Formats: sequence, structure tokens, C-alpha cells
Amino acid sequence: MNTFSPTKEGFYGEFGGAFVPEMLYPNVLELQNRYREIIETDAFQKEFSELLRDYVGRPTPLFYSKNLSKEHGAHIYLKREDLNHTGAHKINNTIGQILVAKKLNKKRIIAETGAGQHGVATATACALMGLECVIYMGAVDIERQKPNVDRMKLLGAEVVSATSGSKTLKDATNEAIRAWINNPVDTHYIIGSVVGPHPYPDMVAMFQSVISEEIKLQLKEKTGSENPDYVIACLGGGSNAIGAFYHFIDNNKTKPIAVEAGGEGVYSGKTAATIALGKKGIIHGSKTYLIQTEDGQIVEPHSISAGLDYPGIGPVHAYLNDTKKATVVSVTDEEALEAAHELSQKDGIIPALESAHALAYLKKMTFKKEDVVVINLSGRGDKDLATYQKHLKL
Ligand SMILES: *Cc1c(COP(=O)(O)O)cnc(C)c1O
Repeated sequence: MNTFSPTKEGFYGEFGGAFVPEMLYPNVLELQNRYREIIETDAFQKEFSELLRDYVGRPTPLFYSKNLSKEHGAHIYLKREDLNHTGAHKINNTIGQILVAKKLNKKRIIAETGAGQHGVATATACALMGLECVIYMGAVDIERQKPNVDRMKLLGAEVVSATSGSKTLKDATNEAIRAWINNPVDTHYIIGSVVGPHPYPDMVAMFQSVISEEIKLQLKEKTGSENPDYVIACLGGGSNAIGAFYHFIDNNKTKPIAVEAGGEGVYSGKTAATIALGKKGIIHGSKTYLIQTEDGQIVEPHSISAGLDYPGIGPVHAYLNDTKKATVVSVTDEEALEAAHELSQKDGIIPALESAHALAYLKKMTFKKEDVVVINLSGRGDKDLATYQKHLKL
């Protein structure tokens, strides 16, 4: 056990829990009672790790960037989650959850998606396993993210347009939850980050922890020591960050740094910097920090990167922040764009805009020359080409 596992009821300190409507309780309770028992069997672990190896393409490389190391005066490594099948870390979780769904005899999968990355990763896993797949997506996002909508359809998924509220991610999540209430017996809901009611935050963290498990082995081989001085990841809901931090949080050496999307600036009114601005509240079944008005209405977040554009944050990160086991910072849209431009031109790697937030924070740090720093490159930037073209005036 580690110092950041939730209680049996899913609490990380005061955060987390499972605040769900009564109609949903049987589904959530079934998962709570079964998830660890299922995941911890040898048979499950064998099937999961074989799929991660042969289908997803793990282990992903740990790349020593000579250019970044020289520029920042430290040893800088990039964990290449961008090289996973479907282009990001999200597939680690969807493969894990679909195996859990099969063990629970579910026939049908539903999921929410914002930019479409989690929708594509879910549709991919469903195609592989032969399960029916319905993806809820905000009507505005369907317009904005057409290539991912087309991918999901090609993979055999049905894409349902969420037309309530601001017609974006939080509304898609609300509609997916509603759909789950209406189909409690045969349907599993695959949540895409360490958010939602217990046990999702813990289950998703377990699946993503493969990232830090690999980093440890890879660093040991390359440097002789398995623990870096810093591990830096971007923070949307928090799944790639907790995956990259997981095996380092309790080692008394590594400093985990999570980078939120500052948008146009934390105090600009156009931001997704949840920890910086957030107040405690409940969103999608879990107590955490979220951006809300005085009277508790959720404020629509803004970030240039769609994957960080969520008004809440996983409860484990609220807890790690408050107990100072991790540091949460933010960078702006502009700083992230610049970092993406530089990595593309200096290392020949086009990062996702989300991942570029983690990279951008390097410029705000000062290092000792022997420091070992790992940046989690959560995804590749092909999906962001249009944004890069527009803002970098290519
Ligand atoms: C979805 C996404 C994120 C944000 O989600 P987390 O749960 O915070 O990891 C970050 N990077 C990429 C590439 C994504 O697709």
C-alpha cells in the first residue's frame, strides 16, 4: 500500500468518495466490490500486460534529449507516451477497463469524450474486444473535432451528440451518466481520467501506473538509479500525471510537478487552472477542487488544449496538492505553444498541446547540473496541427 491510496469508501483525505444518484448506486457498488479482486488476479495481469506489449506497443521509450539537457543544464528525459497506439496514454486505461467490463459480463460500453481522444481509445478497445460502443460528445466538440468523430465511426462506435448546457465535455459526461442509469445491468461506463465516483480514480490510476513502473526500470538501466529528481506531467483530470508519479510519490526524493492549463492567464477569466482557482465542491460524483462561481455554478474552463479543458481535477491530485506530496503549477496557452514549437524543431518530436504544458514549465525552473528530470510526453501532436498552424503562423 502507498500513502495516497483511497479508503474503502474512496476518500483521499477529504476528497473523492462516490456522490452518485441512488439509481446509479448498484453499478458503482458492483465495481467498488469487484475491481481490486479482478485486477489483482494473475490471469488479469497477464492478459493486460500482453495487450499493452503487443497491441499498445509498450514499453514506450524513455528518450534522453541532448538538446533540452544542454539548454536547461540538467539530464532531461522524455517518456514517450506519444508512441502508444492511438497516440496517447489514454489507451492504457481503456484496455484495462474493457478487461474489467468483460469480467463483469458487460456487453456494451459507454464513454464521454471532449476532444475525442478518449472516445477514440475507447472505440479502439471495443473494436478489439467485440463490444458495442456508444460515445457521448458535446455538440460543439463534434463540430470542432471532426477527424476524431470520423475515427470513432470508422472503428464502429456510435457517437451521440450532447446538446445540453455548453455542449462540451461536462455536458457529455452528464449525458453518459444519465445513459448509464438507464442501462444499469449490461453496460459499463469507461471514464477517461482519474475523475468520477470511487472506484474510478483508483482504478484508472492503477492502469496508468505502468508509466512510472517502466520509467523506474528504464532510469535504473540508463543512470544506475531508479528515482529521478523531478517528474513533470500536464494535468487535465490527472491520469497521465498520476501514472507518471505513482511509483515515485513515496520515495522521499522525487518531486512530482503537475502543470495545469493557465489558458490566457490564471486571472483572465479564460483558464482551466483548477487548483490555482478552484474551490471545494462536488463534480461528477467526487469531492474535489473545481472552478465555480460564488453560488456554486461550474464555470466553463478554457484552454487552447482540449484535453486539459475540464473544470475539475482528480481527487487524488487535490489530496497530493494539499498534503504537499506534489506541486501544482500552471503555464499559459502561449507558453505551451512555444514549447511545442521548440520541441518540434529541436528534437523532431511534435508533442500534443497538452504535453507541451509540461515541457513549457522547464523554462521556469532552475536545476543543479546532476539533476535527473523526466517529462511525461502524454501524446502526439498530429491532432493539434490546425491549432499550431493558426497560432505559430507556419
Ligand atoms: C486527455 C489528454 C490529457 C489530459 O488528461 P489527463 O487525465 O490529465 O492525463 C493529456 N494529454 C493528452 C495527450 C491527452 O490526450
